[in-house]
Amino acid sequence: MATPVFHRRFLSELPGDPDSAPVSREVRNALWSRVQPTPVAKPELLAFSRPLARQLGLEEWLAGGDAARVLGGNALLPGMDPYAANYGGHQFGHWAGQLGDGRAIVLGELETPAGTCVELQLKGAGPTAYSRTADGRAVLRSSIREFLCSEAMHALGVPTTRALSLVRTGDGVVRDMFYDGHPQREPGAIVCRTAPTFLRFGSYQLPASRGETDVLRALVEFTLRHWFPQFVDQGKDGLAAWLREVAERTARLVAHWQAIGFVHGVLNTDNMSILGLTIDYGPYGWIDDFDLDWTPNTTDAQQRRYAFGKQPAVGLWNLARLGEALLPLCDGDERVIEDAVRAYQTTYGDEATRRFGDKLGIRFASERRDDQLLQDLFDWLAAEETDMTIFFRALCDAVTLHAAPTTMPPACAEAFYGSPPQSHVDAGVAWLRRWWQRTRDEPQTATDLRTTMRASNPHFVLRNWLTQRAIDAAHQDDLRPLERLLQVMQRPFDDQPEHQELAGRRPEWARHKPGCSALSCSS
Ligand code: AMP
Ligand code: MG
Repeated sequence: MATPVFHRRFLSELPGDPDSAPVSREVRNALWSRVQPTPVAKPELLAFSRPLARQLGLEEWLAGGDAARVLGGNALLPGMDPYAANYGGHQFGHWAGQLGDGRAIVLGELETPAGTCVELQLKGAGPTAYSRTADGRAVLRSSIREFLCSEAMHALGVPTTRALSLVRTGDGVVRDMFYDGHPQREPGAIVCRTAPTFLRFGSYQLPASRGETDVLRALVEFTLRHWFPQFVDQGKDGLAAWLREVAERTARLVAHWQAIGFVHGVLNTDNMSILGLTIDYGPYGWIDDFDLDWTPNTTDAQQRRYAFGKQPAVGLWNLARLGEALLPLCDGDERVIEDAVRAYQTTYGDEATRRFGDKLGIRFASERRDDQLLQDLFDWLAAEETDMTIFFRALCDAVTLHAAPTTMPPACAEAFYGSPPQSHVDAGVAWLRRWWQRTRDEPQTATDLRTTMRASNPHFVLRNWLTQRAIDAAHQDDLRPLERLLQVMQRPFDDQPEHQELAGRRPEWARHKPGCSALSCSS
């Protein structure tokens, strides 16, 4: 294997903290603090993403014996120069000040065989300057969740940070999972995540909030230089165009989440990637029954700020906070924000329309009242517990029926969690007839529509109960369910009949089980 090459752009081009002690502190006028991972007792590689390893040129290394030491934080490869990033954020609508990488440590920027750079970041590798009162560690259950979902989202085509590896540390980590005064010792783990950059909205907000305009400017120039070169050296117009681009990426990302039923769970501004990636998998979840008000996050159970149906509006709110942070670089011109907000709204509308159009096999046209067709479907799905993923997947076959259905096709009825009243079933059949008739106006054949629809309506999504089952097994040292999920979720649009059980409705036992229906932030 060629020796991996690491770059140090973040460290050499941005202002940093002269102190490298892993001691909690306020760090001003700096965007990073050097820190060494804290070694663990017995690092053991439990799983890795083969497609990502291949893409990074690390497959051979990962399959060899030595990777666990590096990915567990006990050794460094030549050229690695680890650091934690400094950033702030709005948490649940309130400015929280400095947050930073409290348990994430970037090992280095790896040069990939394609000539690009990705950051390798260990999550759970020990305390940093930003750990505040916490331990800098992560437990196995939350690490499995981040590892699996990163790779599942990528396979679904959703922009996301990736997960290269999952290492069990051999150390215990104490967590009070329900915040009810019953802390327990759990197995510790470390995920190695990758992204071109982990910069977040909060990275820009922190220097702005402190009046550190030079730091902010350096960070924005750095961002443009490496990831948005089309906007470099164009002054205020360039900044405005860049913010619009971030707005559009964020809008497209959120529309994608809505189309597949993904709920992030903690859309604080420190969890919003500047590249428009899904980032920071915590108490996320997948809706089973179509419920716009659902949130997996127990911390948000009252307010429901980050519930499924609120994500589009929250993305916009977060974007406006980013825009405000950039005002010092735009002569305080609020039109820059207004422009970006408009771009977000337009892009979100277009993208959601396109995605749901693909899911239904129709090109939306307002004169055909397609918006109403979709709204009526949402209302119907929400009226009785109905599985979103199963229902949309069933439409892929229903589109090839030779006549409009007169009864509920069995594959659609599979989506019902209970036995809905006949009037509800009849309303569903009436909707299906309207939809089926509408698809006949499309220029493509039904077979071609089916192909499009199957590429937009996944058969497999990483349902919460599936992951929880894999976690329970891993706690018993059985890694087969984890490995199976990883494999199956790499091909979410394929039928994979031998794994049909993983495409079923949420079983009744999972309805209220922790980890399946509700998750705390404890991780
Ligand atoms: P999150 O909710 O994961 O986005 O984290 C919010 C903030 O808390 C970030 O600054 C994290 O780095 C920090 N944090 C969360 N868990 C820990 C931990 N176990 N140790 C240190 N910092 C943490
Ligand atoms: Mg975070």
